[in-house]
Amino acid sequence: MSTEARPPSVSLLLESDAGRALAATHGHKPAVAAIRAAIAEARQSGSFAPDRLLQMAAQSLSARRPNLRPVWNLTGTVLHTNLGRALLSERAVAAATVAMQRPVALEYDVAGGARGERDSVVREALRALTGAEGAVLVNNNAAAVTLMLDTFARGGEVIVSRGELIEIGGAFRLPDIMAATGARLREVGTTNRTHLRDYEAAIGEDTRLIMKVHPSNFRIEGFTSEVTAAVLAPLARKHGIPLVNDLGSGTLVDLSRYALPKEPTVAEAIAEGADIVTFSGDKLLGGPQAGLAVGRAELIGRMARNPLKRALRLDKIRLAALEATLEDYRTAANPDGAVPTLFFLARRADEIAARAARLVAPVAEVLGEDFEVRVEECRSQVGSGASPTATLPSAGLAIRGDSLEDLASRLRSLPEPVIGRIAEGALWLDLRCLAREDEARFLANLAHLAPR
Ligand SMILES: *Cc1c(COP(=O)(O)O)cnc(C)c1O
Repeated sequence: MSTEARPPSVSLLLESDAGRALAATHGHKPAVAAIRAAIAEARQSGSFAPDRLLQMAAQSLSARRPNLRPVWNLTGTVLHTNLGRALLSERAVAAATVAMQRPVALEYDVAGGARGERDSVVREALRALTGAEGAVLVNNNAAAVTLMLDTFARGGEVIVSRGELIEIGGAFRLPDIMAATGARLREVGTTNRTHLRDYEAAIGEDTRLIMKVHPSNFRIEGFTSEVTAAVLAPLARKHGIPLVNDLGSGTLVDLSRYALPKEPTVAEAIAEGADIVTFSGDKLLGGPQAGLAVGRAELIGRMARNPLKRALRLDKIRLAALEATLEDYRTAANPDGAVPTLFFLARRADEIAARAARLVAPVAEVLGEDFEVRVEECRSQVGSGASPTATLPSAGLAIRGDSLEDLASRLRSLPEPVIGRIAEGALWLDLRCLAREDEARFLANLAHLAPR
């Protein structure tokens, strides 16, 4: 075919062998759009050789990437909400895949051949891991808190300490959720100090719940005092008012094994006397996005029968992933080895530094002479509102040079964007969340770095 002064018609190009191949691989509509775009681009040069137009269309089609594409989380924040929080275990990925590809016993009692109940899939596992009688599962923890307030407190009062009236990312503000569910917030105490007598004085005819909330993303220090759930439990019981504890991150394992400050596990929160405990599936638990409410069977049953539950329920794919994650906790010799979130938290700084030492030379070579790359110690954090002020000793690559913002932007433009963190005059790539088996893939991706 020869160069033409006027563009060929789109349908003519589509009918050629190459055009037909494009439509077969990428779909008719995307192929048409890409050919139109190629023609528009060719108007600048005025040369409309059909072969070249088809080649341009093929290139743009194969360069199309999904918007939700993989990135490298080298921010040092293990549970990064904007990067999708927890990575699933192999068992969880396999279970989710099966649930996507095959019919599953989601709401089906296989033994009886009758209708079953969706949340019963994980009830036994949660009972074993937390000691709670019942469990109800919804879309996320915000939904679990909403369902709980709607079920028990609509039209009544919920007592919360002023030190726990939190706002967490993504517009989850406790006072607003209360208002949305028609519950009235009864604030007690002060920002830094709340006493048992404050709760006691607030209890009245309209009291529906006493609520503890984990101050996920801040810490009040100095002259402080809070009433623990263990101390509140007898008060709540005496008045016949449910005590609910929104743990937020809700760990199943003792965090002190990672040298993080001790926080009550879900099992401990239940044992302390909370009637309902709410927590997320994709924070420290290390599973899929989900909201878990566990606690007394009678109360959990009321939440499950609330019509809102139908709107907030968990889908089969995440339910499968959650069941598998809980199975990791129950059966793996050490859940740190199976659940990626725990694996990343457990990783020791000297092991991470050894990884950095292997990568420093190849990374420096790609970046060129404008940048100095060094292995340095740094601090990682858990993220997603778990142990907000605690950090973990870590290591990574500290990159120094002019125009670090520009370098950060080029790293984000890679086929698989690399996300680091600029602090103290360096661009930090914390290697805590880079798995050993991914090193080669990481370097191969880096080789596509655009020149300055
Ligand atoms: C994170 C968090 C939530 C919200 O959980 P999502 O699963 O993100 O909806 C609610 N309460 C507390 C205390 C939290 O830390």
